[in-house]
Amino acid sequence: MQADAELAQVAREVAGCTACALSRNRLKTVPGDGAPTAEILFIGEAPGFHEDQQGRPFVGPAGQFLNELLASIGLKRQDVFIANVVKCRPPNNRDPQPEEIGACDHFLKRQISAIRPKLIVTLGRFSMATFFPGETISKIHGQPRRRDGMVYVPMFHPAAALHQPSLRQSIEADFRKLPALLAELRSVPEAPPEKPSGSQLSLF
Ligand code: URA
Repeated sequence: MQADAELAQVAREVAGCTACALSRNRLKTVPGDGAPTAEILFIGEAPGFHEDQQGRPFVGPAGQFLNELLASIGLKRQDVFIANVVKCRPPNNRDPQPEEIGACDHFLKRQISAIRPKLIVTLGRFSMATFFPGETISKIHGQPRRRDGMVYVPMFHPAAALHQPSLRQSIEADFRKLPALLAELRSVPEAPPEKPSGSQLSLF
């Protein structure tokens, strides 16, 4: 299936999903949006108040900051794809529970397979832990990592970075690394799954 058709199909299934308790209190589902052929996929944690109202990811204050970070490296939202680990708002913005993440992660896997981005940027510790359980974001943020043939860069969550000057400097610096990393990824053939990290890419 074409990426846009598969993403639309995922969005339809998300809209009808009742697999976990978050479906009871949501106003709108937030499947994610952006370019089906995006080179970079950003993955946040879960929709908040504004996202639940509008059905779109990162449209509140954290989203405004994400837009600024994108602009700082010459990108617009329509150049990338933005999704979340869970597609419905947890009540009062509490942390998503393991069973909610488990009920939702097949949607994210299908989105990744459809988009086949060159780079996945995880935003925040929940998103990082989906791919790198047991890691600590303060240790690995900004460091490209390869897993299962995909390249990931974990970053702090924009909502956390917005009000903490040290985290803000970190996420701004981590964003500045993305253009060079992307240029390098464009210049090498796609690595097969399980290729050991560091074999072809000097930035690793
Ligand atoms: N925070 C997230 O992790 N995702 C959103 O969509 C909005 C805020």
